Parts: sequence; structure tokens; C-alpha cells
Amino acid sequence: MTIAAAPPRVTQTRNLIDGQWVEARSGKTFDVFNPSTEQVIAQVADSDAADVDAAVIAARRAFDEGPWSRMAARERGKLLYRLADLIEQHADELAALEVLNNGKPIGEVRFADIPLVVSTFRYFAGWADKIHGDTIPVDNHFGRFFCYTKKEPVGVCAQIIPWNFPMLMVTWKWGPALAAGNTVVLKPAEQTPLTALRLAELAQEAGFPDGVINVVNGFGETAGASLVKHRGADKVAFTGHYQTAQHIMRDAADTLKRITFELGGKSPNVVFADADLDQAVAGAMTGIFFNQGEVCCAGSRLFVERSVHDEFVLKFAAAADARRVGDPFDENTEQGAQVSQEQFDKVMGYIELGKQEANCVAGGERAADTGWFVRPTIFTGVTNDMRIAREEIFGPVVSVLPFTDRREVIEQANDTDYGLAAAVWTRDITKAFALADSVRAGTVWVNCFNTFDAAAPFGGYKFSGQGRELGAEALKAYTETKTVWVNLGD
Ligand code: NAP
Ligand code: MG
Repeated sequence: MTIAAAPPRVTQTRNLIDGQWVEARSGKTFDVFNPSTEQVIAQVADSDAADVDAAVIAARRAFDEGPWSRMAARERGKLLYRLADLIEQHADELAALEVLNNGKPIGEVRFADIPLVVSTFRYFAGWADKIHGDTIPVDNHFGRFFCYTKKEPVGVCAQIIPWNFPMLMVTWKWGPALAAGNTVVLKPAEQTPLTALRLAELAQEAGFPDGVINVVNGFGETAGASLVKHRGADKVAFTGHYQTAQHIMRDAADTLKRITFELGGKSPNVVFADADLDQAVAGAMTGIFFNQGEVCCAGSRLFVERSVHDEFVLKFAAAADARRVGDPFDENTEQGAQVSQEQFDKVMGYIELGKQEANCVAGGERAADTGWFVRPTIFTGVTNDMRIAREEIFGPVVSVLPFTDRREVIEQANDTDYGLAAAVWTRDITKAFALADSVRAGTVWVNCFNTFDAAAPFGGYKFSGQGRELGAEALKAYTETKTVWVNLGD
């Protein structure tokens, strides 16, 4: 076993409000766990409405009056670049802390999470001084006018994130918000607050003014709901379960907040018989088992053309059986622990259900006596109306569904409440484009899966979300457009 270069170190467990690290006003804390040992690793501030109120007031002041609102856009960009540099300098430490708190394998954090975190901050740093409006050629009988638009920040942004990519989700939220000149109040997931807190410390070190970035820890029902309802916040950006989003939408209605949602999925991954089968098996592995299956766009419905179904399943099950599940600090580990007892129980519950509905050809059990580890699990003989094919399991569990022709698979791919992502494996360009055109999903991957870039928009149709994160699209959600008319006289 290889020990991570830096031993994980918990540096911060409090709230960041107006540049100060403070306990919850009630003095309450909650336990945070290491998913691979089930041990408590920290007690973190358990915030309620009073803490949220202080954070929103600080963010409001920083937005309305602080140096932030007078700062040149290019200076905002410089702060984001500096934060990216600091993250790079502390990459080992941050990676170890992420592994400790989330249970994901260290190799994956180094390969995927850290580089994406750094590049996302740099990408949005580059945008800071390039966000501008247009001059509009107006021509009407009212007179002669000069008309132009300006892009202005929305204001105070309430940002509520989940536990599957704790650092990366912070980045997706802070990057566009700060580049566009907003201030933020972040509520990390109760399971995984530690790296968000460390990132906030690094943001302070980078030089973000007090009140621009606030972090309030706690539970969704208390801290999260207070944040959503607060009159001082202008916008909610949320990632998580669609039922939580429905709740947030209702709570945000009274104050008519701007809303963006990035929610779950039941993404179809379609393998045609003409595909490079080994490549498709590798893609199916990544598609479902990456990050313990705790991925909103996971390819959890795997459609395989009937003529290659049995051959594909044999190879796929062999690859799943060979997957190294265990100690996430071991460099050779491919799959770590599920994030919490609650998620572990949920996943095991679906596995039991799957065993009644379908055939389990790989996994189907926990992978260790201690720690929330689950074997990569494959079900065959699944039909699209079964619960394991319709509900988001959010774990290393995949349903394989055979299909006969293109029209049938497109219909089934779209027969879901969700629409986050889809993938297709084929050597035939017409099949690839047919899928890309017909699947109602925010991202379609052709002969690849889970490729991400800060410049490429990501988000969902239907129950998978509203609005887009990343790319220039993300900036739309964090800006208002102001139209200015100037009377030019006769
Ligand atoms: P969740 O309840 O949607 O949690 C996401 C975030 O929302 C957390 O910070 C949560 O706080 C907060 N929250 C919960 N209720 C809230 C409310 N009423 N008002 C404001 N904020 C609220 O998701 P979960 O319970 O962690 O996981 C349940 C399922 O959601 C998973 O099994 C999976 O299917 C799905 N999920 C999807 C994604 C995704 O990326 N799309 C990510 C994670 C989970 P707490 O920390 O207190 O929960
Ligand atoms: Mg929750």
C-alpha cells in the first residue's frame, strides 16, 4: 500500500462569515465521517437561520458596498488565478483530505478532481474581464437613440452542493459566480464539508475581500432552507436530488429567486454491435463505476444490441469482478467507499430489489466488513419499467438491457424522467449522429464517457435540471442584462 504524499489534515471546521472563522451561534456541531473506516474525523459547525442571516448580510454588504463591487474585473480574474495557483501548490494536501472525507480513491482525485478544479478556476478567471454587453442598432419612429446592453452580476448567490465531488462542485459554483462579480454563501453537503472549508481558507490567502466568499455548514433542512428563503439572497444554485430541487423551488417562490439546478440522471449508454467491444466495455466500466457510481450522469442503463449482448456481458462482468475495491489511500485502488451509511444502505437496498427483479451477474454484495464498500454490481435481464432501471441508485450498480434496432433503443433511451447525459458506442457515423440528435439529454458522448472540460456546458433536460454549468453558458446564470437607451435628439 502506498500512503498519500501528504497525510490528511483537518484545518478548519467552522463557518466563514465576513472574513472571520466562527462557530455556529448555537454552539452546536455535527459529526463528519471517514467512509472507509466509519470513524468520526471532525465535528463541524451546525448552522441555523441565525448563522445564515449573518452570512447573507456579509455577502450583501460586500456586494452592495465593499471593495469587491468597485474592483476592476481584471483584478477579480487575478484573484481567481491566484486561487488556482494555491490549489495546485496544495494539491497533495487537498487530495488527501478529499479521500479522507469522501472515500474516493486517491489516484482518481489526482487524475480527475484536482486538474478539473484548477482548470475550472483558470477558465473562469479568464472570463472575468470579457463579460460585456452589445450595442444594439435600434430603428424606430420614437426618435434617434443609442441603445446598449450591460452584463451585471446577479448579486448574492446561495450555493448548495452535494457530496459526490465536494471540491469540484465548489469550483463549478464559485468560478462563474465570482468571475461575474457576485458574492456567495456556500452550504457544503453535511457529509463532506472539509475540502470546501480548506478551499475557503486558500481563497482568503489569495486575497478575496471579506464577505465575498462565505461558507455556512450544516443540514439542508435548517441551514440550506434558511439560505433559500433569505430575502437578501438573489439566486439559488443547487446540485443534488430532484426532490430537494422541488422543495427549493417552492421555498424560493416567495422571494422569486433566480434558480439553476443540476440534478440526477438515469443515463442511457448504448452499445451497437459494430462498436469496438473492448473499448465499449472499458467505457461502460467508467460510465457506471467511476467515483463509486456516485455520479449524476452515470451510465446506469446500459443498452446492448442483442447480437453482441452475451459476449459483451461476459467481458463486462469479468472486468467488474477484477475491479480493485478497497483502501482509497492505496494508489492501486480503483473504487473506494460509498460516502455514508445512508447511501450504502440505499445502494444495498436497490441491490436486494434487483436480485428479485433481474439476474445479478457481478457483485451484489458489500466489499468489506468495515467501511461502506460495495462490489461493482451488474444486473442483466432488466426491462426499462423495473425500478432499478427507472430510479437513480447513485452507486456502483448497472442495469443491462438488450435491444434490437435503432428506433427501439432511442425510444427506450428517452423513456425516463431524466435527461442529463447519454453515450453511444459505434463505428457507424449515421448511428452516432442519430443518437446525438434524438436523445433528449444535455450531454451526448460518442465513443467516450465522462469527459469534462471547464469550457463545455453541462446540465440537464427534464428532471435533470435547469440552466447549464461550465462554459460561457454558466455566466448567463450569474448575470443580469441591463438595456440602456440614450436619447440622441434630432
Ligand atoms: P440532497 O438532499 O439533494 O442534498 C444536496 C444538498 O442539498 C445538500 O447540501 C443538502 O444538505 C441540501 N439540502 C437538502 N435539503 C434541502 C432543503 N430543503 N433546502 C435546501 N437545501 C437542502 O441529496 P442527498 O440527500 O445528499 O442524496 C440523496 C440522493 O440525491 C442520492 O442518492 C442521489 O440519488 C442524489 N444526488 C444527486 C447528486 C447530483 O450530482 N445530481 C448529488 C448527490 C446526490 P444536507 O447536506 O443536509 O443533505
Ligand atoms: Mg441530505
